[in-house]
Amino acid sequence: MIGSHLSISGSMADALREAALIGLDCVQVFTKNQQQWRVAELDPAAVDEWLGVAERMGWLERGGASVAAPTRLVSHASYLANLASPDDDLYAASVDLMRTEIQRAAKLAIGCVVFHPGAHTTGSRPDGVRRIIDACARLLDMPLPGDAISRPVLCLENVAGAGSTIGGAMEELAHIRRAVVDAGGDADRIGFCIDTCHAHVYGEDLSTAAGARAFVMKMESTIGLSNVRVLHVNDAKPPAGSRLDRHEHIGRGTIGTGGFAAFFASFIGAQRAAGLPGVPMILETAKGRGADGRLLDEVNAATLRSLLPGNPPAPRYEPGIAAALRRLPTGCTKPAKTDLHEGAKTRRRGERKEEEEGAKRGEKMRKKGGEGKKTGGKISGGARKKGGAKAAEPGSTPRRSRKPKPSPSKGRKPDSPN
Ligand SMILES: [Zn+2]
Ligand SMILES: [Zn+2]
Repeated sequence: MIGSHLSISGSMADALREAALIGLDCVQVFTKNQQQWRVAELDPAAVDEWLGVAERMGWLERGGASVAAPTRLVSHASYLANLASPDDDLYAASVDLMRTEIQRAAKLAIGCVVFHPGAHTTGSRPDGVRRIIDACARLLDMPLPGDAISRPVLCLENVAGAGSTIGGAMEELAHIRRAVVDAGGDADRIGFCIDTCHAHVYGEDLSTAAGARAFVMKMESTIGLSNVRVLHVNDAKPPAGSRLDRHEHIGRGTIGTGGFAAFFASFIGAQRAAGLPGVPMILETAKGRGADGRLLDEVNAATLRSLLPGNPPAPRYEPGIAAALRRLPTGCTKPAKTDLHEGAKTRRRGERKEEEEGAKRGEKMRKKGGEGKKTGGKISGGARKKGGAKAAEPGSTPRRSRKPKPSPSKGRKPDSPN
């Protein structure tokens, strides 16, 4: 299942409509402005609209996600929360913000809430880890709201490992989950989100077949494949082991198409061997349009599909869903010919043709390395202009936790995950 992190600006449901427009199988959202501590109540009308569109897309799982039935709806918690903070006030506020996020997710039928474990900052690493464990156990113990539709799984995300951040190593993540379960936490509701860029820059070299295989074997022996509930599929700008968190378009970075193909072959092969279904694979790469006018998410999703075993096709949804998108696609500042102003039918026909041509072009480019680079440059250039690629800053979570800025003029955009 391929998806992307999409904006909820306009309305929550617009993220779903955009997913339908791009042809995705799943989506990740921030359920609120992720740079604010204060959270307004969810508007019941917005919840109904979201659930209605999710239902029309066939994405609504009442009762929530399970290992056997992976969710298509994922949320990413705010970066302000730091569950490893040695500062008691900040720690309490972080637990409270996570509680709010889980409750919102439950009302929105979201199956997985992804969060970064935290950073121990001025405290010790063991103390930071203990605080994360306590926080997760407490969060799992809290009752869900009466109108909850799902029972969200808390997904610890592996991090790039900059500064005092916790959760770069698979062993550390595995230890946290085990301790949460030992403390009474519901084992079905605590799992992991594995980010390929973060793993690569942390030190797993995913650019080679041997490195990708070794990483999948490490996952199996530490965190357990059935506990991997979400993947973040991002290529990396910096080299393996750099601990710098900079996402790159799929196939254009230091992991490369060969690395992704090898990773998918190992990971999905191991999943299938264990009888596990596919999990949501979310793009967190720069948004906008490439030089050819195609949405970068569409380009990246098509590249991913071409690298997956069996080359699964993009899903299609009733045209009315995408046609009701009331804003521009995420990261776009002006409409393209294919946006909004033409009928949905025209757009779909046009896109299908573009997609076929794009796929042919992509195939040619993969065969001839040189041509590929040319287009790759264009893609990156277009994204950089819009500032999307700069959105992911490493190690900024703990610093920002202390002094959140309402709308920073540079750095991460409110809608960009890392
Ligand atoms: Zn990242
Ligand atoms: Zn991520």
